[in-house]
Amino acid sequence: MGKKRVLVGYGIDVDAVSGWINTRDGSPANPTDVSRGVFGATVGIDRLLRLWDKYGIKTTWFVPAHSIETFPDQLAKVRDAGHEIGLHGYTHEFVSTLNEQQQRDVLTKSIHVLTEFIGKKPRGWTAPAWSTSRETIKLLEEFGVEYDHSFMHHDSQLYYCPTGDEEWTETDTSLDASEWMKPMSALKPSQVVEVPANWHLDDWPPFQLSLKQASTHGFVDPYVIERLWKDQFSFLYREYDTFVFPMSIHPQVSGKPQVVLMHERIIEWINEHDGVEWVTMEKMVDEFKAGKLSGVEVKGGKP
Ligand SMILES: [Zn+2]
Repeated sequence: MGKKRVLVGYGIDVDAVSGWINTRDGSPANPTDVSRGVFGATVGIDRLLRLWDKYGIKTTWFVPAHSIETFPDQLAKVRDAGHEIGLHGYTHEFVSTLNEQQQRDVLTKSIHVLTEFIGKKPRGWTAPAWSTSRETIKLLEEFGVEYDHSFMHHDSQLYYCPTGDEEWTETDTSLDASEWMKPMSALKPSQVVEVPANWHLDDWPPFQLSLKQASTHGFVDPYVIERLWKDQFSFLYREYDTFVFPMSIHPQVSGKPQVVLMHERIIEWINEHDGVEWVTMEKMVDEFKAGKLSGVEVKGGKP
């Protein structure tokens, strides 16, 4: 076993009200759901800030511009405590449902709101609900966003994200089979660094009850999820000398008492390992770009 260097970080998605009023077709939102967003932006943010303070951890907060404009005092606490703030849409738009002009308009507005609020241009972006488009990486490059936290080509190493230009043929069974039996074309790296996303390190599916989202549950024992997250860390710690461990959480979910306690147990357990450092995602990216943190080259597809 070599000398370990592990960069661990929390990404906190402050979806707040925006996630619930993003009904995608303009249908009315449930005011009780909106109230859960208010809980996240107020009680949830305060509890998580106390948690990071208790352990001396700096984290990355991905904030829809709607949340900044709706809860500026709460987000000012996050900013003023020295945490990183990154992009997460305006009203948590599912990018896969937007046309290119809508994607551009959301990026333009949200970059403007965040830049005004934090006093410098945000460097990172995560797709709301990790719903991306073929244009995503091309647009992030064009808008000068340095890193993304939405794709899953790897689970524990940084890499330059593929451009999204690769071609594949969807299976359309109304056609002859010869129409779809074609390989995907080669992946080509972009300038955007990927901090890998991972549904199995996300608090929303197990802990958030939503009557409209089939993927959410809400009644999983936190000790089950604690073991799931620890097992991922244990495997990576055994297999790699260097890796990143980004966890994705939401104040309206992880601000619940039973989940705060789970994070305390996980943080204390991770801290028992040699070579661990808690960092923001921009710090991970800086180290990768400077060659101080090894990563991987993502390859695949038919040249
Ligand atoms: Zn989100």
